[in-house]
Amino acid sequence: GLENLFSVVETGDTIIIDGNTGSVVVNPTAKTLSDYEAEIKRFKELEDQLLLLTHYPAVTLDNKEFKIYANLDLPEEVGAVLDYGGQGVGLFRTEYFFISQEYLPSEDEQYKMYRSVTENLGDRPVIFRTIDIGGDKIVGYLNNSAELNPFMGWRGIRFCLTRKDIFKAQLRAIYRASAHGNVKIMFPMIAQIEEVLQAKEICEEVQAELKRGRYDFNPEVELGIMIETPSAVAMADAMAKEVAFFSIGTNDLIQYTLAVDRGNTKIAHMYQNLHPSIIRFLKSTIEAAHKRKIPVGVCGEMCSDPLSVLVLICLSVDEFSTGPSMIPEIKRIIRSVTYDECKALVRRILRYRTTSEIEREIEDFLKARVPSTPDIESMPK
Ligand code: PEP
Ligand code: MG
Repeated sequence: GLENLFSVVETGDTIIIDGNTGSVVVNPTAKTLSDYEAEIKRFKELEDQLLLLTHYPAVTLDNKEFKIYANLDLPEEVGAVLDYGGQGVGLFRTEYFFISQEYLPSEDEQYKMYRSVTENLGDRPVIFRTIDIGGDKIVGYLNNSAELNPFMGWRGIRFCLTRKDIFKAQLRAIYRASAHGNVKIMFPMIAQIEEVLQAKEICEEVQAELKRGRYDFNPEVELGIMIETPSAVAMADAMAKEVAFFSIGTNDLIQYTLAVDRGNTKIAHMYQNLHPSIIRFLKSTIEAAHKRKIPVGVCGEMCSDPLSVLVLICLSVDEFSTGPSMIPEIKRIIRSVTYDECKALVRRILRYRTTSEIEREIEDFLKARVPSTPDIESMPK
């Protein structure tokens, strides 16, 4: 949103970027600089405290357990999952491997990468999301020509079902990696049940081919889908019969539901995690999944916002998946509350019609129950 930054800043200037408030200070005064240095020190101390939680489980005070996974874009990031105490990878965005190459990676090149990620995680699960190319993720050599409305265009599963050659090569590589650890597969941008059925059929074809070629793979690899379009929310009960898990992609779900482009700074204030329509959609998706006894995670940026994390606990989501460094903070929130009081909170927030009322209620609750300076050492183990 800092459109004029480069007309204001010159080489050699001192700049403070404050991610908490979303502000940039150019050439700060000595006082501002020392205030921020103190803030950095305070933040580091808080981080050190939170890191004590790495080996603690994510359970509420009344023993309701949640799973916390990490989102990864690149294989080199696996170490961070373990450093921050993640229980596995809830979303591996495989398209970044394609974006980082200058040509289409072969099945063997992909297999090597998926296998190394899988092996480095030991028996922890990794959910490989099949390529979500399109939208804002353009891969030049795949001929992603300009579209008038790319987020509503040829992306995710739509791309894969029309480029079956690319899709099958990726699936073969992931299935082969499944012989080396705990692998799951997830399809992005599902809007129609036919897409799920076709993707499953292609997985069966791939398995039959691998069997014929005498490759090792796990035939029980779980297949799941991302719930990130309003259509998938509406069809969640039918979708839940077809797959082993859901993962709600709130980044896209919010943009499509509120009709607010996730990257447009002019309307960023309208992009609201806690809009009542989003809370209703989350609730109905989670209920549909639980009715069919399948787990449901959230892998959008919503998991990096403490207020939203609390709402997700209240709504009984099973799994959180987020940037690795956020994992300890989510654990802290979970370990500071009772599931019982969260159930009561959700009944209150479902009555509100505006985002601001919901935020106020959650903020008050969070302030009262989750202190801003945690005393991790005295938390129950
Ligand atoms: C999402 O849409 O929430 C998501 C996790 O996927 P991506 O951000 O890659 O679109
Ligand atoms: Mg998405």
